[in-house]
Amino acid sequence: MKLILLGPPGAGKGTQAQRLVEKYSIPQLSTGDMLRAAVKAETEVGLRAKAVMEAGELVSDEIVNAIVSDRIDEADCANGFILDGYPRTLAQADAVEAMLAAKGTHLDAVIELVVDDKALVGRIMKRAEEAKAAGQPVRKDDTPEVFDERLREYYKKTAPLTGYYHAKGMLKNVDGMDTIEGVTAQIEKVLASL
Ligand code: AMP
Repeated sequence: MKLILLGPPGAGKGTQAQRLVEKYSIPQLSTGDMLRAAVKAETEVGLRAKAVMEAGELVSDEIVNAIVSDRIDEADCANGFILDGYPRTLAQADAVEAMLAAKGTHLDAVIELVVDDKALVGRIMKRAEEAKAAGQPVRKDDTPEVFDERLREYYKKTAPLTGYYHAKGMLKNVDGMDTIEGVTAQIEKVLASL
């Protein structure tokens, strides 16, 4: 099963991806997590990505496509994966299609978590508070100011992907305003119908 979870920051992609990992035993490929790991490890990619991420902007397609291409070659991706936070631009969407075609495979579905914009900033702030309370590091881009920029980037560069995948007949919408369990149930229903 090769899936994309689409939706704005704070839509719940990471939370749902984790639940799908358990159910389907396939890895979650979060480009945000991979980039944060690169920043922490101060790799060449991390050094290039750090300021861009802290400003809430998108890291270059070239960097992100290379990370994903390497990752999907790893053994644990053989039976599938959940792409979380990737693709985020039309160029990335074309790139992932080409990567999979080169391996003789393709995506099974693109699931969009449809959410109300007004709920998003509150969710992000909650995530920051919970991380702090648990003694975990708080993401530098989980502030209201940087969140605004992330949302702007989403509408400008990522939202067009819904039309792109709809035109290919691959887009499935779920109501992301439902409870966590409710959203998971909707996703499972979509996957069962494939
Ligand atoms: P996320 O954890 O998905 O919210 O991503 C955090 C940040 O990492 C984003 O605001 C971007 O700066 C960067 N990032 C993550 N995924 C991508 C991507 N597919 N393309 C470009 N930048 C990305």
